[in-house]
Amino acid sequence: MATPVVRQFGGARRRLIEELQAKGISDLAVLRAFDEVPRHAFVPSGVRHRAYEDAPLPIGHGQTISQPWVHARYLELLGLTGRERVLEIGTGSGFQTALLSRLAAQVFSIERIPALAQEAQAALAECGITSVVQRVGDGSLGWPEFAPYDAILVGAASPEVPRPLVEQLAIGGQLLVPIGGREEQVLVRVRRTEAGQERTSLDAMRFVPLIGTHGFED
Ligand code: SAM
Repeated sequence: MATPVVRQFGGARRRLIEELQAKGISDLAVLRAFDEVPRHAFVPSGVRHRAYEDAPLPIGHGQTISQPWVHARYLELLGLTGRERVLEIGTGSGFQTALLSRLAAQVFSIERIPALAQEAQAALAECGITSVVQRVGDGSLGWPEFAPYDAILVGAASPEVPRPLVEQLAIGGQLLVPIGGREEQVLVRVRRTEAGQERTSLDAMRFVPLIGTHGFED
């Protein structure tokens, strides 16, 4: 990813990586992805000077780019090896999409708001990332045409685990989704097994709502 945009903000990016390490992120592949993907390319120009704070930032249309630690936590939990087919629900800024493109073989991403999907596509292209398959739609329904997925990440809060997403997991695959109310949620990991599924509740989270058939009402 040797485009000029990657070379900017190098010092700030390294300080963010040290902060993530201090907060418990130790997966070297994940930390390397944070070094290779310029977060400042995925935020509006008005907040670009804050791009390497470990904080969520507004990206317009009432949405946010998630806190870097949250992205790192998701990616560390998935433990990707580079061979996986991954589905992301809620492209948003496209930053996590870009991180995923460094860590998995194939990345599919769905965003509900057309303008955000377009802006994310432009940022990905600016970083030289052309391999991601994107579409606009209701991600709570998944993307059955390309299933099964080794990993599905939901970057928005849902009142319950969306059934189609579990059905679109490969056996052994895992889904990460924040479950709860509109204000506060718990990150839930669902593993698909031969016998059915296993659910584990992990960290407390605060995400914008997943709006759709298997999410919240608009
Ligand atoms: N990982 C993204 C990032 O950091 O930029 C997350 C962005 S934001 C926290 C969540 C995104 O999910 C928003 O862009 C929102 O429009 C999108 N979203 C909400 N409901 C959706 C749905 N049913 N299908 C697809 N995207 C959805």
